[in-house]
Amino acid sequence: MAQQEDVFKKIVSHCKEYGFVFPSSDIYDGLGAVYDYGQNGVELKNNIKQYWWQSMVLLHENIVGIDAAIFMHPTTWKASGHVDAFNDPLIDNRDSKKRYRADVLIEDQLAKYDEKIQKEVDKAAKRFGDSFDEAQFRATNARVLENQQKRDALHERFSKALNDNNLEELRQIILDEEIVCPISGTRNWTEVRQFNLMFKTEVGSTAEGASTIYLRPETAQGIFVNYLNVQKTGRMKLPFGIAQIGKAFRNEIVARQFIFRMREFEQMEMQFFVKPGTELEWFSKWKQTRMAWHQALGFGAENYRFHDHDKLAHYANAATDIEFHMPFGFKEVEGIHSRTNFDLSQHAKYSGKKIEYFDPETNESYTPFVIETSIGVDRMFLSVMCHSYTEEQLPNGESRVVLKLPAALAPVKLAVFPLTKKDGLPEKAQEIIKDLRFHFNCKYEEKDQIGKRYRRMDAIGCPYCVTVDLQTLEDNTVTLRDRDTMEQHRVNIADLRSIIEDKVSITSLLKKIE
Ligand code: ATP
Repeated sequence: MAQQEDVFKKIVSHCKEYGFVFPSSDIYDGLGAVYDYGQNGVELKNNIKQYWWQSMVLLHENIVGIDAAIFMHPTTWKASGHVDAFNDPLIDNRDSKKRYRADVLIEDQLAKYDEKIQKEVDKAAKRFGDSFDEAQFRATNARVLENQQKRDALHERFSKALNDNNLEELRQIILDEEIVCPISGTRNWTEVRQFNLMFKTEVGSTAEGASTIYLRPETAQGIFVNYLNVQKTGRMKLPFGIAQIGKAFRNEIVARQFIFRMREFEQMEMQFFVKPGTELEWFSKWKQTRMAWHQALGFGAENYRFHDHDKLAHYANAATDIEFHMPFGFKEVEGIHSRTNFDLSQHAKYSGKKIEYFDPETNESYTPFVIETSIGVDRMFLSVMCHSYTEEQLPNGESRVVLKLPAALAPVKLAVFPLTKKDGLPEKAQEIIKDLRFHFNCKYEEKDQIGKRYRRMDAIGCPYCVTVDLQTLEDNTVTLRDRDTMEQHRVNIADLRSIIEDKVSITSLLKKIE
């Protein structure tokens, strides 16, 4: 495990050293759980997005895309449940500096009373054997009664405090119950604060009566509120899907593990609208389709698994996560949810608009059910990085760090080097780039000896390097080096495009999804 943590640290520093991911506002020592993508990171990220977008919109006739605004009418978040349900009452311990949810601390205390009571009951059951009357014991035993009374009083006080939204009372309960921080063991608690994971801001000037709006915590709602617009203008027939890629914002309390949990991140979401009653069939189809998308990257089926949810949200009738084997364990990268007609019905209720589908086959109108596939771009980026980062011992005793990125996702596809900076070699190398840069991302490098240039390209995962030498000027051939095998062979400049293009294109990945 320690070794795995070590690898993870190396990946984080590699990301910074080679222009993939920087801490946000780095010169000011960064901003917690916010990151910037550098010159190579942005290319890799764009390729991931393109792979997803094309797999949705190009490969499915019945899926279209949209790009909704980050700001939405505030009622959206009332209807979706985020205003009420994204709220956590938080409290900090001043000694350990750890942050907790106040309601969870009190719930744990309630559970402790239950445990104490249960212990007494179990003890008595053992003592009395078959003649044990549990109900009578609970009604008469002094210790049980005392604990039960304390528990009931606490429960009543706690429920009232929650219902009244009385944060001071929540804190007082924690003090009166003498609840300690599990880390520091002290009762040095701060005030309780209400914490909604949504970021708030204001539109309009105060003079006009500014109103509070939110930065969206998910992109999905932008799709739901556009269901009617897209269905009507696109003349879409059920089943059909709407895809979207965009930023989402959550004021995460426990923000760690690099770009795994961020406060500003990007989601790729697709909501698939279906006829009620067919949703579980579609849920299962989308599980397979999404898993195939992941596995086409060639990271090995053993590194993925489904994690079905035991506890479903009240509006969902099936849910699963696709987890990937990160250096810190199997972790959720994507969620697939059968959300019934909850979202569309809520928006119909709050907007007063009829949000339905008229089914020409059955001549009836109904609210479609929804299957959602929701994946984080940044988590996907992290999984690609973790799997590709490789330290290799070479036969000559040297070692190298190579990013074995799927060629279609690599930021740079071809690096072109003149062997030396003279004899017209740089000019010849530039000529090659001028021709090929219309087809894929190329990079020119002339500094340092060839070996060093190869290492730099390995470190950013560039799948192909080409070296121009004196022979090139005579016969128009170059040395082509493969990143993974490090094998080199001479090829005609005229053949470079056909050798490389197919292997580095997103199309090559799309064709593997079956
Ligand atoms: P978690 O349980 O890890 O907080 P979640 O279940 O709240 O995630 P969803 O609301 O289902 O996540 O969001 C869908 C996807 O968005 C997740 O699978 C993940 O890839 C991504 N995601 C969610 N929150 C974050 C975050 N704070 N930073 C980066 N990606 C995120």
